[in-house]
Amino acid sequence: MISIAIDGPSGAGKSTISRKLAGMYGFVYVDTGALYRAVGLHFLNAGVKAEETQKIIDGLSNIQIDIKFIDNEQRVFLNGVDVSDKIRTPEVSLMASAVSAIGKVREFLFDLQQSMAKKHNVIMDGRDIGTVVLPNATLKIFLTASAEERARRRYEELIARGMNVTYEDVLADLKLRDQNDSSREIAPLKPADDAIIVNTTGNTFERSVTILSGLISHKLGL
Ligand code: C5P
Repeated sequence: MISIAIDGPSGAGKSTISRKLAGMYGFVYVDTGALYRAVGLHFLNAGVKAEETQKIIDGLSNIQIDIKFIDNEQRVFLNGVDVSDKIRTPEVSLMASAVSAIGKVREFLFDLQQSMAKKHNVIMDGRDIGTVVLPNATLKIFLTASAEERARRRYEELIARGMNVTYEDVLADLKLRDQNDSSREIAPLKPADDAIIVNTTGNTFERSVTILSGLISHKLGL
């Protein structure tokens, strides 16, 4: 099986670029952030606070998370309910970032992520795909961009979804998540030693897709 790992901070363009690339190569696109978001949503709904680590660990046994592909799009199910849209709010983003720092949460989602790569050729995006989940990935890319550019993209995405947010809030949230994601002890956000680092600041979407597809085609000998 072929696996392409795409890691990087939020707003670097991982999901839109990965989705496009998966379509081009006929691979399955796996968005692992959605899994952490589903766990975050579960505990938000249950009224559990981010700092109640033990409650979160104990509560994992009540969660069943499944990935299904409907019209080639990944949908995430939390205890049988499709939560793919509900997990996109800023509150869920922050809760996802908080729960993702708990080792037991990462272990809980590990098998599901690995099993996807055993069954399909995948383009999998996340924070620790190249370092932890798929250390033997065919190709590892670390996608990054300046915080301001990432916040601007995320802001436009949220506005397009009809959400009521300000650029300043999005930038502040993003910096907080960057800080959480890179400073945590377990699986911190960092490029794998053998990852190719691609900075997309100033690139159009098409330009970034061209750069990454060039790397993939080269690696696959296409
Ligand atoms: O990618 P996305 O913004 O949807 O991810 C939500 C949160 O889930 C991130 O802020 C990060 O804390 C966490 N995450 C992670 N490891 C992954 C994917 C996401 O820790 N592989």
